[in-house]
Amino acid sequence: MKVLKFGGTSVGSVSSILSLKQIVEKEAKHQSIIVVVSALGGITDQLIKTSLLAREGDERWRKEFDAMVDRHHKMIDTIITDTSERELLFNKVDTLFEQLQSIYYGVFLIHDLSHKTQDTIESYGERLSSNIVASLIRGSKWMDARKFIKTEKEHGRQRLDTELTNQLVKDTFKSLPRISIVPGFIAEDRDTGDITNLGRGGSDYTASILAAALDAEVLEIWTDVDGFMTADPRVIKEAYTINELSYAEAMELSNFGAKVIYPPTIYPVCVKNIPIRVKNTFNPQGKGTIIKSSIENNQKPIKGISSIKATTVITVTGLSMVGVVGVNRRIFSSLAANGISVFLVSQAASENNTSIGVKDEDAVNAVNVLNEEFKLEIEDGRMFPMYAESGLATVAIVGENMKHSPGITGKLFGTLGRSGISIIAIAQGASEMNISFVVKGSDLRKSLNVLHDSFFLSEYKVLNLFICGVGTVGGKLIEQIKKQYEELKLHSNLKLNVVGIASSHNAIFNREGLDLDHYSEELKASEPSNPEKLRDSILQMNIFNSVFVDCTASKDVADLYQSLLENNISVVAANKIAASGPFEEYELLKRTALQRGVKFRFETNVGAGLPIIGTINDLRNSGDKILKIEAVLSGTLNFIFNEINADIPFSETVKRAKEQGYSEPDPRIDLSGKDVIRKLVILTREAGYKVNQEDVEKNLFVPDEFFKGSLEDFWKNLPNLDTDFEQRRQRLSEEGKRWRFVATMDNCRTSVALKEVAANHPFYNLEGSNNIVLLTTERYKEYPMQIQGYGAGASVTAAGVFANIMSIANI
Ligand code: ADP
Ligand code: ASP
Ligand code: MG
Repeated sequence: MKVLKFGGTSVGSVSSILSLKQIVEKEAKHQSIIVVVSALGGITDQLIKTSLLAREGDERWRKEFDAMVDRHHKMIDTIITDTSERELLFNKVDTLFEQLQSIYYGVFLIHDLSHKTQDTIESYGERLSSNIVASLIRGSKWMDARKFIKTEKEHGRQRLDTELTNQLVKDTFKSLPRISIVPGFIAEDRDTGDITNLGRGGSDYTASILAAALDAEVLEIWTDVDGFMTADPRVIKEAYTINELSYAEAMELSNFGAKVIYPPTIYPVCVKNIPIRVKNTFNPQGKGTIIKSSIENNQKPIKGISSIKATTVITVTGLSMVGVVGVNRRIFSSLAANGISVFLVSQAASENNTSIGVKDEDAVNAVNVLNEEFKLEIEDGRMFPMYAESGLATVAIVGENMKHSPGITGKLFGTLGRSGISIIAIAQGASEMNISFVVKGSDLRKSLNVLHDSFFLSEYKVLNLFICGVGTVGGKLIEQIKKQYEELKLHSNLKLNVVGIASSHNAIFNREGLDLDHYSEELKASEPSNPEKLRDSILQMNIFNSVFVDCTASKDVADLYQSLLENNISVVAANKIAASGPFEEYELLKRTALQRGVKFRFETNVGAGLPIIGTINDLRNSGDKILKIEAVLSGTLNFIFNEINADIPFSETVKRAKEQGYSEPDPRIDLSGKDVIRKLVILTREAGYKVNQEDVEKNLFVPDEFFKGSLEDFWKNLPNLDTDFEQRRQRLSEEGKRWRFVATMDNCRTSVALKEVAANHPFYNLEGSNNIVLLTTERYKEYPMQIQGYGAGASVTAAGVFANIMSIANI
């Protein structure tokens, strides 16, 4: 025989209950079955809510009550087609509702809701649903769970009387009907005969008790997901079904909050070695999860992650607890005597303090109990009053393979540390099958995501990107991400999730990923934003594996990097301002990134997509020393000096550079050498030298007065330089030379200058807007290393930014 349990959602709607019918009838062809049902989804909560309204004397209880009646009536009307059967069922259901209404009315009148009344009210959900299912499934027999599921009171709580229950179950089901329908959850106090229950989610337990007592072949838990999953699918989108779990693993995961199975369910069937199968009522063909004693070993060190919200950590501590006898025994026995369960214990080897994890709802009671227990010690100063911190969350990673894999703990805490999540308490049992730890409630989602991601439970690694700046580079980057999205998912198992996009005035966010086809419209319609607001929103989202991508040229945006890095958010900058700003600030950014285990990348600051900074870093990391850098680093200036000829005057070339997107939005930044100076400063710093922009010697070609005044004045005045330039150009051409604006670092001395290079110079043939860098190092002394190629343009810059993002994904 088999026991099949159907949860609330499986009896919650017409389509699900009809699916239940099909599943049950198919199974019953092969053997006898017992079907355990929960209340219609959400009804238990509604029963409780209504009782609280009634207790408060709030008339709205009637509306809630009517809604429950209506929902059950509608369900019956739709699924029971036989008129006389329907009549019979309506009678049963309405009798139950009449009783329930009277109870509510009593509560409403006297404003009193005892435990006993509460339990009675809660029992109606399963009593109603099971009668509906019994009527729907022809030939089935309704069985009253209260007759054989018996509880007893212990420490003020009801617990199962296992022996009596087992005996009664065996007696009741001695001759097994083909299909029995049993209301889950509800029970009866063996001494008083009062209606009781097995705790919220307890229908699973009812089914397990029956399966164990009757030696069922299997216990099937039918629910609304495809099985036991690697994590709560409501929190982790990437969670997926685990094919096989051991009893111990399932027990650990459900104890720590995996709601799919009510924790006490596992023990009775585990003792009898009866497998549990978790299946989806909405997808009966799916394989589901099988839980049994021995399972095939898979390679993954951890099987799943679960969590308990609303955790309080109470610390029992003192100056010298060493002299206090039996502290732990007293902690646990006093709490147990008051029915408070402790789900996490952490004790330092010094024995100076013990931290325990309890549910928030038990916190006040637990603190009082412990203060009372250690009253004398607290009074004479050997111990401190209890210290409690609430609103925390406990996370457990579980898997039998952890035993055989060293380094799991290191990886776990390293991953959390890099994400800026601090751990409040830790516990690992010697079984090495569960590591649990407590974090702030606001870090829970991030912890679950980052662990799911880093332990390769997820199919994809996820990077969550905030893109700031949607001009030419930002726009191209978004286009490239959109284009590569599927490819990266397929071949690199990487999901690039753009969770935030900001323009200079607006910002949009979506933790599930923004729609990259329509972001401009969305941006336009969004609330106004500014850099501070942007930072606050990003920090508030507290999302895992996040990268801030700066495609602006704004100082205000660059000023955000420090706090972003401090909050464990990597930064990829096309913006040069930060890396070329004051040396101390640049150094602090790099140090912060290193300390936080995140990345600060700015490869495109020099040479757009060319691998210049990366190469310098590689050379240095491998022990080489950069002695000299000579470079043409301005695509704009190179473009200008390559374009200029007898027909195209200087001012026209500047205009063309701007129009074709080679120059900075304000070309004065290029012509004043500022852009090249910034780049040279960045390269020199990356080469290991301390330098600031003021230290760079300048030999410019546009007189200073052209940079004063407005941009408009600049454009107006620029043609005044044309004649002089043309004369100089003619002379240069006769000498067979070309102009190159060259940046040099020689033994820490930096300079920029317009140089005239002859045909045999490596810079002579530099075409269009190309860049070139010559690196003279201890190893590349006689023949410097040469890097050359496109050094400007939105597409190559965006591609360089993209490559930086990818380099973060691959660590
Ligand atoms: P039922 O009404 O069928 O008893 P529950 O709501 O009690 O259903 O449990 C199923 C729900 O548990 C799923 O819908 C899912 O959202 C949640 N859940 C939490 N953790 C897990 C997990 N690790 N695997 C599967 N489901 C989980
Ligand atoms: N209906 C009860 C509850 O909601 C029992 C169950 O669904 O298992 O807690
Ligand atoms: Mg449940």
